[in-house]
Amino acid sequence: MASEDPTKVSIKLLIDQESNKVIIAEAGSDIVDILRSLLKFPLGNIVRLIGKHQCLQRAGCLNNLYNSVENLSLTSFRTDACKSMLLNPRSIYEDEYSKKLKLYMDFSEPTGYFLCRTYLCSTKTGRWFSHYETSRCSCGKLMNNPTDKDELLHIKSNAYKDESEGESMFFITDDLRVMHGLPGDLMNILLNLGINNVCQIEEKVVDISSNEMSNLLSHSLFSKTTLTDVFLRKQSTMFVQQSMLVAPNVKERTEKDSKTRLKIMLRKSDRKILCGEANEDFVDLLFSFLTIPLESALQLLGDKGNFTVGSISNLLKDLDTIFSITKQNSYLNGILPPFYSCPIELSSICSQPTKLFQTPYGYLKELDPKSPILDNTNSRGYIKKKSLFVITDDLVVKSLSSVSSFSLLKETGTPLCDVEQQVISIGEVEALVLLRACICSSSALSALLNLYVKQPKQEPQ
Ligand SMILES: [Zn+2]
Repeated sequence: MASEDPTKVSIKLLIDQESNKVIIAEAGSDIVDILRSLLKFPLGNIVRLIGKHQCLQRAGCLNNLYNSVENLSLTSFRTDACKSMLLNPRSIYEDEYSKKLKLYMDFSEPTGYFLCRTYLCSTKTGRWFSHYETSRCSCGKLMNNPTDKDELLHIKSNAYKDESEGESMFFITDDLRVMHGLPGDLMNILLNLGINNVCQIEEKVVDISSNEMSNLLSHSLFSKTTLTDVFLRKQSTMFVQQSMLVAPNVKERTEKDSKTRLKIMLRKSDRKILCGEANEDFVDLLFSFLTIPLESALQLLGDKGNFTVGSISNLLKDLDTIFSITKQNSYLNGILPPFYSCPIELSSICSQPTKLFQTPYGYLKELDPKSPILDNTNSRGYIKKKSLFVITDDLVVKSLSSVSSFSLLKETGTPLCDVEQQVISIGEVEALVLLRACICSSSALSALLNLYVKQPKQEPQ
């Protein structure tokens, strides 16, 4: 079922003519491989992908979050590299995905390896390298000398590895359940759906370009009828209503002494959020969402957050069953590349330890691109200490120095006696609510506030 256009892949849709809905799709391993690789993209790259293809469906507040990083002045970040790390998040899977895929989906910049320009610069313990040309070496020079990775690390280029698997067929349901495609299974699926008569089913082969694939991905975050929406209706799904975002099913409540806090100003009369105010700890948490691979975010929300919106969780669950993704080694050593910031609120999101490469000329070490002082210990945070930010409900983050507090108050047009302030401590529960709202809602701070409204007040014992 290969498409004749080399930039496209084909999928066969079985459509119920009565209801004009996709019952199931027959797809080759080329499509399933692309879906697998998309799940590994950091959320920031998902935003870029969806933005690049101008999909009808925006990814919740992620888009605003990404644009906020782009619009924040470099002086808000601890180093120039911090901004690049967020705008072009690297992935521990980058060598694995997108190279062999039929559709070109990955628009991230290739990872660079940079040295300083001092001849034979090295210390007793070895030589530094950085992935960012704005980093500064121990000798004081900028590390703006691009180097070939294989040459630098003395890696022999990979011998030809035959990893190709036989062509398999898969069935994909409208809500993105995936299963091996055997004719007997199809019969059972149809019978389960109450379809007895194959004459009411229309077959349609459609070509999928990277544009349609991005559309499919963005719809999968919101819609339970993804294939129908993308291929038959060609329209956007409504944003998930706030009321559908229930508090995650986590038993432990946040300790009240959590260091990360958010002050929310809201209108008492209708509880509309006017704005949020927070320091670098909260903004670091928000920005670190951009670096988390989609599948890790979904897993976190699925395990603890009862993530039921859209159909993307079905996709992840079934691909994990078929290909045992979560049992793979790379998962165990941390899911972010070395030196990426690990949000303390989400304990399972941690970065891999720094690798030390041995070369004939001594050790090569990566330096911490987040730290302005030369260091190889993993420092926290992308944002300068003692910074203050204003944040809207849909997560537009602005430095407080760039807005006037008075004009903010004036803009709301709300009498001061109608404004209430609430301080929320951010722990795991709150971080999960924010992460979920980021992916599938346009009002993240409201989701956070609702967490407190809906919970019955606990009486002190
Ligand atoms: Zn140097």
